Amino acid sequence: MAETKCPVCGCETFYVKNPEDEYDLYEFQCRDGSIRFDSDVDASGSPSIDNGTETFCNGCNWHGGFGTLAPEKL
Ligand SMILES: [Zn+2]
Repeated sequence: MAETKCPVCGCETFYVKNPEDEYDLYEFQCRDGSIRFDSDVDASGSPSIDNGTETFCNGCNWHGGFGTLAPEKL
């Protein structure tokens, strides 16, 4: 099944920043199109992510809109 990977390094772990606190990070992986936050992320406090959400790779300097990561449509 499709897994979302960084277009640069292939890392499958990403994070987004709290819009109200850029030092507050939410780590997640994306499997089969669904976002799975790290187990230490409070589910009630996790941010909503859409295609325009600025997303950062956990393995390199890549960042961009979450929609950029969507698996290519064949
Ligand atoms: Zn990367």
